[in-house]
Amino acid sequence: MLNGVQMYQINAWSFTKCAWRITICINRKTYLCTMILTDTHTHLYAKEFDPDRNAVIQRSIDAGVSRLFLPNIDSHSVSGMLELIKHYPQNCFPMAGIHPCSVHLNYEEQLKEVETGLSKKEMKFCAMGEIGLDFYRDITFASQQKVAFCKQLELALKHHLPVVLHVRKAFKETLEIVKEYNCPELKGIFHCFSGSPEEANQVLSLTGFYLGIGGVITFKNSGLQELVPQIPLEHIVLETDAPYLAPAPFRGKRNESVYITLIAQKLAELKNCTVEEVAEQTTKNSIAIFGV
Ligand SMILES: [Zn+2]
Repeated sequence: MLNGVQMYQINAWSFTKCAWRITICINRKTYLCTMILTDTHTHLYAKEFDPDRNAVIQRSIDAGVSRLFLPNIDSHSVSGMLELIKHYPQNCFPMAGIHPCSVHLNYEEQLKEVETGLSKKEMKFCAMGEIGLDFYRDITFASQQKVAFCKQLELALKHHLPVVLHVRKAFKETLEIVKEYNCPELKGIFHCFSGSPEEANQVLSLTGFYLGIGGVITFKNSGLQELVPQIPLEHIVLETDAPYLAPAPFRGKRNESVYITLIAQKLAELKNCTVEEVAEQTTKNSIAIFGV
């Protein structure tokens, strides 16, 4: 603390906070932060944040990353997520749903719990997420994953909620299912998108669907650096997927929502626009999806 100015320093990245402005310094370039950035996908309730969760969230809010959308995983993650909503009602927004990797034999029971949660008047969920198909490691429950996914798309439509989709090694199958349910009311995000230009076009041809772009954009070998300049900002939202997939220069370390600033910076560089433009448009997109 220096004359009322707080200084945060994490390797190549730092920001200074005082009463009237926030200055973000990334790789020696300085940005005056008057922006509102949105992390559309962050697991802040994860055990990786147990030692310093409040500091992590405060650091994010102080840097302008003040809108934090929390996808659920399964029945075990609900209480931690709702605890955060109690403490940060202006900043944290909860989702309901079962991650495809949590779909096992008892998925019907889990779905019932999701349905009960959705019907509670005192809790307002902003989306169904994260839901979808993951055939990357284990396809034991592939057919159950499909049934659970369809059921959760139906719940999204019934409760007028957008969807946050987790898709891994299952793009074709996911798209087929989404197309079955596609209608003007169904909107959402293909979270952590890292597909081909053709796949990106297929997503964008569905009205109301956006690509979630995260830390992978900073990885040189990901293909995203070639893809992203072709995607209009109007179809992109930002996400960290914290604590996973930290952007460079923190690759391999714990990810935090504050690193949305690094993702926004990389996106601005690739799209040849300002960080402010990225912040404004991607936050606008997130409002169009979630309605908050
Ligand atoms: Zn996630």
